[in-house]
Amino acid sequence: MIYIFCAPSGSGKSTMVNHLLTCHPDLFELSISCTTRAPRGQEVHGREYYFVTVDEFRQRIANDEFIEFEQVYDGLYYGTLKTEIERIEQAGRQVLFDVDVKGGVNLKRILGDRATSIFICPPSIDELRRRLEGRGDTSPEMIEKRLAKAEEELSYRPQFDRVVINDDLQHAFRQLDAIIDRSASGVK
Ligand code: ADP
Ligand code: 5GP
Repeated sequence: MIYIFCAPSGSGKSTMVNHLLTCHPDLFELSISCTTRAPRGQEVHGREYYFVTVDEFRQRIANDEFIEFEQVYDGLYYGTLKTEIERIEQAGRQVLFDVDVKGGVNLKRILGDRATSIFICPPSIDELRRRLEGRGDTSPEMIEKRLAKAEEELSYRPQFDRVVINDDLQHAFRQLDAIIDRSASGVK
């Protein structure tokens, strides 16, 4: 099974994905995307992302290396490499995708029943702002851009197989664990 995680930035997608990776390091592995944005904080090339220039990104588009790609924020490109699914499945693990809502809908359309798409929903826009500010690694200008986009992103929620409301963290983890258990036992 492949799991696609989507949410407005700051809703807790990374927190949910990291929960699965920490609890089941032998079961799951995160697909590493290409991006043209600069590394933040402690991010490392080849671990969180493959950080590339716009020219390199364009070359990879021309080489047909992406399953999907999006200009997620003004001038910043993000793309899923076809080779990531092969790399992770050959290692005997299940693929986790952390992508924007449009990328998630596209991946689900392409992967069909092989994938479960999961939308992580923030309790409110005010709480989303608090989390983005609290994370302390995104500039005030970028926070405003991400909040402006959140409203539109929330409208994609009905297109997903499952929704997790990330209010109380432990409750959200339990919701996610139940989704994974159901998928693993083949329940639709
Ligand atoms: P995303 O990957 O969706 O951008 P993160 O997982 O980085 O979001 O979460 C954004 C911030 O909110 C982080 O500082 C994270 O620790 C915090 N956070 C995540 N889930 C919760 C929660 N349920 N309650 C309070 N803070 C949370
Ligand atoms: P961030 O800059 O916070 O790491 O990510 C910004 C947004 O881009 C997030 O919503 C993240 O999920 C999304 N993203 C990361 N990789 C990809 C990708 O390969 N494709 C798409 N469509 N979105 C991605």
